[in-house]
Amino acid sequence: MATQQDYYEILSVSRTSTLDDIKRSYRKLAMKYHPDRNPGDTKAERSFKLCAEAYEVLIDPEKRQRYDRFGHAGLRGTSGHDFSHMNAGDIFSVFEDLFGGAMGGGRRSGARGRRAQRGHDLETQIELTLNDVATGVEREIEFTRQDHCSTCSGSGVKPGSAPIQCDTCNGSGQIAQAGLGGMFRMVTACPACRGQGQIIKDKCSGCHGSGRTPKKRKLVVKIPPGVHEGQAVRVHGEGEPGVHGGPRGDLHVVVQVEPHKLFTREEDHVVLQMPISFTQAALGAQVDIPTLDGHEPLTIPPATQHGTVFTLRGKGLPNLRSGRHGDLGVVVLVEIPKKLTAQQEQLLRDFAETEDHEVMPHSRGFWDKIKEYLG
Ligand SMILES: [Zn+2]
Ligand SMILES: [Zn+2]
Repeated sequence: MATQQDYYEILSVSRTSTLDDIKRSYRKLAMKYHPDRNPGDTKAERSFKLCAEAYEVLIDPEKRQRYDRFGHAGLRGTSGHDFSHMNAGDIFSVFEDLFGGAMGGGRRSGARGRRAQRGHDLETQIELTLNDVATGVEREIEFTRQDHCSTCSGSGVKPGSAPIQCDTCNGSGQIAQAGLGGMFRMVTACPACRGQGQIIKDKCSGCHGSGRTPKKRKLVVKIPPGVHEGQAVRVHGEGEPGVHGGPRGDLHVVVQVEPHKLFTREEDHVVLQMPISFTQAALGAQVDIPTLDGHEPLTIPPATQHGTVFTLRGKGLPNLRSGRHGDLGVVVLVEIPKKLTAQQEQLLRDFAETEDHEVMPHSRGFWDKIKEYLG
């Protein structure tokens, strides 16, 4: 758990301190509070971990800037170590650059440490209709992830057998080395058992000793209204399990939006292509047009041209952030009759005789209109 204490206070430095000041102060405090120098002193151990947490933020220019501007809230969502679950050796190995030299040779011997690691993130897809996008949905999804093996409960050991104690570290998982000329002992993970303290001879047949098998997982995800193709909804803690007690990774549910039969999407607007007859266009009409949530009356005024766009404010999709709705743009497509009755043909011939072909109005292009509408 991250502290709410002031990081500068924890490290006894000022807000204007240089990186070198911060490093110097942290090194000093880390030595002072090191658990090996304060055996059984939980207060010292807590101080030791707090210092590491503060140091990790203040030596990172971006994190420091966010912290300066917004305090602890500014660091939400940034990656960092959870020092409360780590032992001193692991914390030192995080800041190897700072302590590596001070510790002298020996501790970079390849021991990897028992550092808690967050599990991998996973990705899965969800397919939505435009109507789903308009309302938001809760949907059950199923996906497969590497999970704890149920045969061995994730231990990797064949049921009925047991792991044997590691000889190198006598089961502690750690080996101690003298640091800083014997001032205190450096504890690092045992290389023989990779910090486990035990070695698996009889591996679980279900997972070949890895402790992991692929498993199906079902869960309900909530997709907010207004999402776009390719956006992902993050489900916290539904990724793969962590290592050494580390937290699970996250699941990213990537949204795909099916093409709609009637509507196309432009950001938060939707566009409908609406065929009308040439008599409706010429004489005007009242038509019923489909919307995402039903239908609406629309008045086509007399002398409406092919490609005219009518805008129904607020009948588009909600904006993901603001919730404000975009518009519905209705593009009118004037259709010419494919068949005429004898009477209709005669009427049109009579009509044609009244027309002055020389002054036919120039019709603006369909795509120009669309561009104007979207622009
Ligand atoms: Zn297993
Ligand atoms: Zn060992």
